[in-house]
Amino acid sequence: MADVAIIGGGIAGLWTALELLRAGASVTVFDGRRLGEGASTAAGGMLAPGAEGDGLAPAVQAFAIASRKAWTHAAADIENASGIDIGYADCGSLIIARDDAEAAALKAQCAQRFGAWLDSSALASTYPQLRHGLAGGAFVAGDACVDNRALIEALSAAVTQAGGTCAFGLGDVGVRVGGNRVLGVRAGGRNLDFPRVLLATGAWTSHVSIEGGSATDLPPVMPVKGQMGMIRVAALPMRELVWLGHTYLIPRRAGQLVLGATSEDAGFDPCISEGAVEKLADDARWLVPSLAGLPVVERWCGFRPATPDGLPVLGQTRVDGLYVASGQYRNGILFGPLVARTMAACISGKASAIDISAFDPKRFGPRHEH
Ligand SMILES: Cc1cc2nc3c(=O)[nH]c(=O)nc-3n(C[C@H](O)[C@H](O)[C@H](O)COP(=O)(O)OP(=O)(O)OC[C@H]3O[C@@H](n4cnc5c(N)ncnc54)[C@H](O)[C@@H]3O)c2cc1C
Repeated sequence: MADVAIIGGGIAGLWTALELLRAGASVTVFDGRRLGEGASTAAGGMLAPGAEGDGLAPAVQAFAIASRKAWTHAAADIENASGIDIGYADCGSLIIARDDAEAAALKAQCAQRFGAWLDSSALASTYPQLRHGLAGGAFVAGDACVDNRALIEALSAAVTQAGGTCAFGLGDVGVRVGGNRVLGVRAGGRNLDFPRVLLATGAWTSHVSIEGGSATDLPPVMPVKGQMGMIRVAALPMRELVWLGHTYLIPRRAGQLVLGATSEDAGFDPCISEGAVEKLADDARWLVPSLAGLPVVERWCGFRPATPDGLPVLGQTRVDGLYVASGQYRNGILFGPLVARTMAACISGKASAIDISAFDPKRFGPRHEH
């Protein structure tokens, strides 16, 4: 198969590169920044179609469930390919109901969709480390988590070991187009020819420069900023992902309890607000009294790639040979294995194992700049 250039060294770009390399392609992954500076490293690493699934469009929900299934094998595969432990754990989710109104809603959801309902006393006896007097909780067995920082290092190592090239830290890389066909990329001041180019550029997708073509051919993708923090503990209070309203607690290895996350329409503003992260920590300390007095030791933020209709964008654009994998919004880590598989099939001209026509980048129509 002819050469493929991938712009974007996050989960979508690296994992698709690995699939393409395994199918015999030669692949170069470009990134303007150093490894691990996109959303994939900033994320929480939850693989949670159960707890996160509510409110997703049916096509996205089906994609989420299929990708969650793919994760079980994929995690071991990436560890074998890279020699790096990515901290995958079948931990389940625990969703907390603070009061009777939340309990009624959650109990109804349990009956319809998932999970075992725990009333107030069952919750207290199963999880004595939580504050007393909570109204109940739902345990969702199928959810899992991964250490996404280790995952990105592992994917990059696996790509290199499979013969791929990673060209990082080059500044913004652009696409070159001629006669509605992709010609290649412009990277580090040089024109490089590639017959196929994949934009795995996350929240920056609409900002990629297109020489000889029109930016209106790219789908609209907006950044949704998320701030997170981490508390270090001697022993993790529990192994489950825990959901408390909009706040969640993620147990990571080495006594790291990750707290997420804000959801802000703030463009690419990189500022971290101590107050916003402290609010997440206050929620965690309220729920788990043994965390009282433990400080937040690390804060960071990232940008989720969101689309106007809430669906990912996966497939070929209007420009022949130019593909996009973006718009995964809150679930790009969960979607990792299936995005890679479907995009590798699409770029190789093979049928995808799962129908991704609802995610076609061309559904938006050409945008007109004002
Ligand atoms: C705070 C937060 C928490 C999250 N938690 C979870 C979670 O628990 N579970 C989950 O499934 N998802 C989660 N997500 C969502 C998930 O992180 C994203 O959907 C996913 O990482 C997107 O991956 P990506 O590879 O498309 O983009 P990214 O990881 O952002 O990678 C895109 C890369 O493209 C590069 N790039 C962009 N433009 C150019 C250019 N012109 N030239 C060169 N390089 C370029 C960037 O430098 C970047 O490295 C979270 C997101 C955030 C922000």
